Amino acid sequence: MPPETRRLEFRSTGRMRELLGEYFARVGRAVGEKSVPLAWCTSVGPAEILRALGFEVYFPENHGAMLGASRRANDGMPKAHALGYSQDVCSYMTSDIGAFLSGSTPLENYGLGVPRPDVLVYNTNQCRDVKDWFEFYGREWNVPVAGITSFRGLDDITDDHVTAVARQMESLVLALEEIAGRRLDASRLEEAVRLSRECSDLWKACLFSAAHRPSPLTFFDGTIQMAPAVVLRGTKDACDYYRLFLAELEERNAGGIPAVSGERHRLYWDGMPIWGRLREHATLFAEQGACVAASTYCNSWIFDALDPADPFRSMARASLELFIARAEGPKEQYIAQMVERFHLDGVVFHDSRTCPNNSNARYGMPRRLRERYGIPSVTIEGDQCDLRCYSPEQSRTSIEGFVEQLAER
Ligand code: SF4
Repeated sequence: MPPETRRLEFRSTGRMRELLGEYFARVGRAVGEKSVPLAWCTSVGPAEILRALGFEVYFPENHGAMLGASRRANDGMPKAHALGYSQDVCSYMTSDIGAFLSGSTPLENYGLGVPRPDVLVYNTNQCRDVKDWFEFYGREWNVPVAGITSFRGLDDITDDHVTAVARQMESLVLALEEIAGRRLDASRLEEAVRLSRECSDLWKACLFSAAHRPSPLTFFDGTIQMAPAVVLRGTKDACDYYRLFLAELEERNAGGIPAVSGERHRLYWDGMPIWGRLREHATLFAEQGACVAASTYCNSWIFDALDPADPFRSMARASLELFIARAEGPKEQYIAQMVERFHLDGVVFHDSRTCPNNSNARYGMPRRLRERYGIPSVTIEGDQCDLRCYSPEQSRTSIEGFVEQLAER
């Protein structure tokens, strides 16, 4: 391997693996355990309410990512397709359902199967697929499914939007209290929101350390390091981890230690990761001296609106401010701001076959970014899990051609 493509591992990652091991052990203990109820939650669903009510919280999108990263997603997917779930709907969902039906999952590494919960809780702020996904399991296990039907494609977020979502969250509490067998304690909810906000601030500081030139981390590192922000949001463990990781990033910046040696180009990644090709992508960009320093995806676990003094309204606002829930205008401005903030040369759009919700090159965004802000971009086609939708040769050619163009500029 040429020296410029060698990846520098983070020391902190060892602690992250321990934390994840402890987390999955808690999920395993909660299965069928009456004193600790288990809830499934969408990745940006109301996890703080669940934690405050004493639920252990499991995030199936994380399982989808594990299936993708381990390249086991395509093994089970045909079983979900055979049940009538189209090849065009979310491959996190079809690979997760497929793994469940075939009884084969990377969760086995933690001594788990797909864990049967006491309730499944969604928020459709990201897409409708999550509700359909949870309803499959609701029918399969005869378990209650509850959630928030949110707004999508929002330009301005008004007080009325926030009120509508906050009220749904408050109504959800009544149903969840019954399942948990306890009342929601206001101080526990405040504490969960406070910890989520602290986790979000620390995660943001980690990601924004990549504004430094050269960047101490890449998007590909971020997709690994984000695990505690996803599955442990609202816990002290997640905050402690990001304090440790941030110190390491600051140490790299102080010593001028780059994630990509000889960093010459700096890029933004928009859309889902292609989990089964992460390592290959990290190498491909590094070979070109290109550091993918920032992304919409990793930033999606930054919740600036969370405020423990106003838990319901601030959770509602945070869920509405999510990039994926916004209209083209705010999305375009957001990407342009990121490009400026991180001193980036261009954008890589991943157009995911089964996640149109998080694919932003379909309605003229690349052209508008170029014409309005002078930001060049390239679009690659793929999928978060379904590797049949991805051509390594075509993507390599597109990426190499794009970096050459940047070099000529
Ligand atoms: S946002 Fe996309 S990847 Fe995530 S659950 Fe929805 S369709 Fe699947």
